[in-house]
Amino acid sequence: LEWQLRKSDTLNVVGELAAGIAHEIRNPMTALKGFIQLLQGSISEDYSMYFDVIMSELKRIESIITEFLVLAKPQAIQYQQNDVCKIMKDTIDLISAQAMMHNVQIIPDFAEDLPYIYCEPNQLKQVFINILKNAIEVMPKGGEIQVRIQRVDRQSIRVSVKDQGCGIPQDKIKKLGEPFYTTKERGTGLGLMVSYKIIEEHQGKIDVESEVGIGTTFHITLPIERTEKEGDHEARIQCL
Ligand code: ADP
Ligand code: MG
Repeated sequence: LEWQLRKSDTLNVVGELAAGIAHEIRNPMTALKGFIQLLQGSISEDYSMYFDVIMSELKRIESIITEFLVLAKPQAIQYQQNDVCKIMKDTIDLISAQAMMHNVQIIPDFAEDLPYIYCEPNQLKQVFINILKNAIEVMPKGGEIQVRIQRVDRQSIRVSVKDQGCGIPQDKIKKLGEPFYTTKERGTGLGLMVSYKIIEEHQGKIDVESEVGIGTTFHITLPIERTEKEGDHEARIQCL
């Protein structure tokens, strides 16, 4: 228990700092990319290889920022009753170009009449983006991603994202969500850390079911109502 507490305190501090920084990096990045693209036409061929390097490194910075938060300014986080299906639909729209480029089809299967849940839509979008991105990335030859949203019981709903990728060996599942844990050559190992933290803040949980060579399902269980825990506020102040 003690270890878990310490792990989540660290994640709070790291998360809030990073969210602030990433948000500030985003605008200068957009300007940089724009102007470099403008320059590209007016520079001699001899230097064109430098452009490729610059663009590819800029894209890398961009992907770190996208995974790491971004949609919400940390100060602007607002929990409200929201439609998770709508949040997921928006996320799928956002990522559909990337899916198409990788020959991946995203198949939604949302239950009818799901209740609104108490959540921060931009934060949830961040989680859905990270998990869908991972699913796309583990299917280099394309395939299907099933996205189910269903009611679990009176208190909670569940979002499940199922891919047909390489799967995760049983002994590696507990490493998911550790900062910088990645098996990808150019991975960040930040996407799941951020996602686990956001879901933890929503008082939900993430379970992973996986079979090597068959695929992986990420189950995100979210409570419909939020229970205010005593001491929540104090614990936050202390860790900052
Ligand atoms: P990154 O994607 O940059 O590697 P993440 O935190 O998003 O960082 O994921 C960490 C690691 O978890 C990945 O490198 C991969 O090994 C594993 N992983 C995450 N999602 C999946 C998935 N759908 N299928 C197989 N492995 C996965
Ligand atoms: Mg990732």
